[in-house]
Amino acid sequence: AKNHGRGVHRFFEPILAAQIRDRRSLEHDLRHAVERNEFRVVYQPQMAIDTGIVVGFEALLRWQHPERGNVSPDRFIPISEETGSILGIGEWVLRETCREAASWDKPLRIAVNVSAVQLHAPGFAELVHEVLFTTGLSPARLELEITETALVRDPVRALAALRRVKAMGVRIAMDDFGTGYSSLSNLRAFPFDKIKIDRSFIRAVDVNHETAAIMRAVLGLGRGLGLPVLAEGVETSAELAFLGAEHCHEAQGYLLGRPGPIAAFAEHTRDAAGR
Ligand code: C2E
Ligand code: CA
Ligand code: CA
Ligand code: CA
Repeated sequence: AKNHGRGVHRFFEPILAAQIRDRRSLEHDLRHAVERNEFRVVYQPQMAIDTGIVVGFEALLRWQHPERGNVSPDRFIPISEETGSILGIGEWVLRETCREAASWDKPLRIAVNVSAVQLHAPGFAELVHEVLFTTGLSPARLELEITETALVRDPVRALAALRRVKAMGVRIAMDDFGTGYSSLSNLRAFPFDKIKIDRSFIRAVDVNHETAAIMRAVLGLGRGLGLPVLAEGVETSAELAFLGAEHCHEAQGYLLGRPGPIAAFAEHTRDAAGR
């Protein structure tokens, strides 16, 4: 058994070592990515389903690595959360998006993803306040998207931070609703202004009976709690038609627009007459 164990060890070691080296190099590069100007923000429209009007945008981070090319946020956000570099990155995203939104002709909403690490860091509410003041963005136009995992780490601290930003007039959305362990009790315990239902519940909602039943239940929940519901990841017009018929408030997804540079959405952010 001992020899067998050593053999397995020798077999896996090079692969593991390469993975660790790869991870270390990403950790290192992430620490310098802000100052090296490697991040940019893309914007994805959020639409009111009954009117078909774009009411806001979600800001999504993109990292253009000098050698690796585009690295997905699903890969680099967790690493930056573990090393703490998310604090500088998150501050950059918040500042960049608030400045951008403050420059629009129309007072559309801007939704910014906030990591658990940011929410729990001392001074988070002060940072939001300072960025709003510096950029001149009206607090009512800022929405922070928080996932449930952000709340479980230290619920008392998370609640205190959310209350402080809410007191400024900033809105709070529960992101990826339905994918966590205790979505329902978290809805009651935290001061959310909106439910963003995860795209896994939207997929084929128009043909799948189980998915449709869950979707109707969430919409009923939203109505009962007085919270608007946004459906994420809408890809087909049949999905959108189902959501409209069930009185879902807002939708976001490839059908309505892929995330892109804000210039691609100037028809929504700018007044007519080519300003
Ligand atoms: P999320 O907050 O749930 O963002 C939605 C993700 O779904 C985005 O992926 C978006 O591009 C994608 N998406 C939008 N519409 C559709 C659709 O119709 N179909 C499909 N299949 N996907 C769609 P993205 O941009 O790769 O971001 C992945 C995750 O990374 C985000 O999930 C969020 O958790 C995180 N993230 C992105 N930007 C930031 C950021 O600035 N800060 C933090 N803390 N996290 C971020
Ligand atoms: Ca989000
Ligand atoms: Ca989401
Ligand atoms: Ca997600």
